[in-house]
Amino acid sequence: MDSRLLTDNITKVRSRISAAVTAAERDPASVELIAVSKTKPASLIEQAYAEGLRHFGENYVAEALEKINLCQHLSICWHFIGPLQSNKTRSVAEHFDWIHSIDRLKLARRLNDQRPKSLPPLNICLQTNLDQEPTKSGITDDAELTDLMTAISEMPRLQLRGLMAIPPANNNSSSQRHAFAKVRELSLQYCAPLGANELSMGMSGDLEAAIAEGATMVRIGTDIFGTRYTARPK
Ligand SMILES: *Cc1c(COP(=O)(O)O)cnc(C)c1O
Repeated sequence: MDSRLLTDNITKVRSRISAAVTAAERDPASVELIAVSKTKPASLIEQAYAEGLRHFGENYVAEALEKINLCQHLSICWHFIGPLQSNKTRSVAEHFDWIHSIDRLKLARRLNDQRPKSLPPLNICLQTNLDQEPTKSGITDDAELTDLMTAISEMPRLQLRGLMAIPPANNNSSSQRHAFAKVRELSLQYCAPLGANELSMGMSGDLEAAIAEGATMVRIGTDIFGTRYTARPK
């Protein structure tokens, strides 16, 4: 990818975020941009870093470790945002700052046990899937959510930060907002009382709607790095 194009893309995404923040009368500092670099090379992460981006999201453990290693000289905050198999928790515990895709106790327990003492607690968002979309991971009912939150809040090496959601792709902005509003309500009901106020929601196609409904972290891949051609690694 041409570096000029990357710069233009980042500028465009930033201005979309700032327009959405203004429209929602929110504080610009209340929304963090996470650049989703899955399938893209470390060289592009370095270029995006030079444009001032500091938060990067990855979905696949082996691929991410390679890039984290290549980018050691940069002070990047790494977010794991993909589904995680329990035999790969150690790498996430040792190399990431955040994980957004926790949906079961077993993963949380392992991460808590494996988080190195030399690092601060791992930041956790719980992935919700209350629409029970069969193709997506995530917690599917309120009781499951509250049980998991209670358990995590007692784990010393994990810090519960909020919720993450991936609503179905939809071109209609009022349907997008409706889906995000449900996540915000859940957050107000269950997470806010615990001080876990982060809402990780909004991607290239729906960041405006997510920000209108209170997103604090938007995860943007395609509109920064271009279309992903690489097949999903096994
Ligand atoms: C790939 C991915 C994104 C980025 O999606 P784009 O539509 O390319 O912006 C965001 N969140 C998750 C969980 C992803 O897997």
